Amino acid sequence: MSSPAHRLAVYLDQRRRMGEPGVVPDQFEPGELLASLKSRLAAAPSVPAPRRGGRAHAGGRRGSRTEAAGPASRGPVPPPSRSPSITPDSPPSPDYAALRETALACVRCRLSEGRRHVVFSDGNPAARLMIVGEAPGAREDATGLPFVGQAGKLLDLILASVSLSRRDSVYICNVLKCRPPGNRNPLPDEIEACARLLKGQIELVAPEVLLAVGSFAAQWLTGTTRPLGKLRGKVYSYQGVPLVVTYHPAALLRNPGWNRLCWDDLQLLCRVMDEA
Ligand code: SF4
Repeated sequence: MSSPAHRLAVYLDQRRRMGEPGVVPDQFEPGELLASLKSRLAAAPSVPAPRRGGRAHAGGRRGSRTEAAGPASRGPVPPPSRSPSITPDSPPSPDYAALRETALACVRCRLSEGRRHVVFSDGNPAARLMIVGEAPGAREDATGLPFVGQAGKLLDLILASVSLSRRDSVYICNVLKCRPPGNRNPLPDEIEACARLLKGQIELVAPEVLLAVGSFAAQWLTGTTRPLGKLRGKVYSYQGVPLVVTYHPAALLRNPGWNRLCWDDLQLLCRVMDEA
């Protein structure tokens, strides 16, 4: 059963292919955006979900093998293909599986003490686009998945507005894999301790484009300490991978006036993905 956001992404992609212009208004409140997109979805004809293991959505790269990593009970995760000789039916990469196992057992920093789950990633490891956020919150810690709750729903709908879906066409992770207590900001030594996991994910997933959401991801990936408002609006490079930065969806929920800026960032992201 596909999620509403996934069905919406497929529907919007169909409309886009038929020549319909953008569907997100220039100015919107999160509630208005949700209502607008949900009403479009309700009015849309039923869209069959792509078969798992079949061809990827437009944003996918090498098949739609979907990862929902986090709780150990979810089992091994198929890694991305690394060469043309690797097909969607190839066996899992031992490197990627090993990295995930390393993360799930990690005790390199104090955050291991209070966590319920290591939140490794979600989405499709074969996707062209990799989204990097900040750190798990309470819901993420409880479920083992990044970007759940209201911020996660908003992220899914924002992605759907540009015909991307979490299930097929993006890979999502955070700078930190464990929840800071009380949702405080990550500390520098925690970011340093966890960086090897993020570096490993970027290397093994090998995305064509990176999107940093929020200050911590943007600053780590750009190697600067500049505020997000000064960083956004440009294309950077992380070890040769084009990088766009924008606001964290949780920040958008608190600051609806930034939605237009986020929309501009998404348009920049789309142009970069078209050129990648
Ligand atoms: S936050 Fe990162 S470095 Fe710290 S315990 Fe969790 S996985 Fe390990």
